[in-house]
Amino acid sequence: MRASKSLPLILTACVGALLACDRGKDAPQSEPAQAPAAVVSPAISFPPDNGPLPAFDADRAMQYVKDIVGFGPRPLGSANHKKVEEYIKSHLNGDQVDDDAFTADTNVGKFPVHNIVAKFPGNKDGIIILASHYDTNYPLRNTSYVGANDGASSSALLLEIANQLRGKPRDGYSVWLVWDDAEEAMKPDTEVDFMSDSLYGITHLAEKWQADGTLKKVKAFMLADMIGDADLNIDRESNSAPWLQNVIYEAATRLGYQSHFFARTLPMEDDHIPFVKRGVPSIDLIDFTYGYNNVFWHTSQDTVDKLSAQSLKIVGTVMLESVRMIDKLDPLPPK
Ligand SMILES: [Zn+2]
Repeated sequence: MRASKSLPLILTACVGALLACDRGKDAPQSEPAQAPAAVVSPAISFPPDNGPLPAFDADRAMQYVKDIVGFGPRPLGSANHKKVEEYIKSHLNGDQVDDDAFTADTNVGKFPVHNIVAKFPGNKDGIIILASHYDTNYPLRNTSYVGANDGASSSALLLEIANQLRGKPRDGYSVWLVWDDAEEAMKPDTEVDFMSDSLYGITHLAEKWQADGTLKKVKAFMLADMIGDADLNIDRESNSAPWLQNVIYEAATRLGYQSHFFARTLPMEDDHIPFVKRGVPSIDLIDFTYGYNNVFWHTSQDTVDKLSAQSLKIVGTVMLESVRMIDKLDPLPPK
């Protein structure tokens, strides 16, 4: 993902810094003077929820992060990438799994791309999608970069969410978990525009589901990206649907985690964009301050020691609680 180029003026200095310090060098010490005003949708009256708090085994999720990172760098087309793909599928044995495979024609050649979709059916007509990419940045393929936070943390999070959904009939919408591929750009964004060189996997899924009518059934698309940082501050991503921001914040408040959410607002170019463009209510849950001035992002310092099981638990339980709240919102807020 990348911070969007079409930024409000107030963030320009900061994002200029982010882009300039892609490799974590010479990071200017600038921060936005103040956060832009938050986008707030009309108040939603949420039905009370007296059910048990969502369960989430944080230690097991952290072990998944370590396992994924343990394969080494997993850029598109690599043997490690294939191993991670198999690793994810091996944890979905017995689940309803679709393998969406195709060849992406990228700026640096053709590559096999595999999106993995696990479907947990509900009794309500409609689908909630929870997504994460699992590849690592291709231009960093010959470095020690393993993307512990960027790709592994959110992919592990979905594996643990699958554990929580498995074997329990859903009294609500169907939940589809998507481990999407080829999110990362193939060339540095100093050379090629990010949006023309990335999001290959999720764009393919969005196009396919638009063509076959699936997209019309998608009630919400929730993306998790870089959510394992021990110093967890999930940004309010400004391309995201305001009503979904409200759902997430209400869920976080119910669980006592609201201090980790939405202190800063910024736009991101990330896997949710192909769904946003197609009118699907979408949200990107991302903490784009990974180390001071985001210095660990896309560097060999993106390692497991920067993460915490508690951060995985916070985001995992907030997503599960949000799903339960969306199940009960009837009718859903207008798009
Ligand atoms: Zn990345």
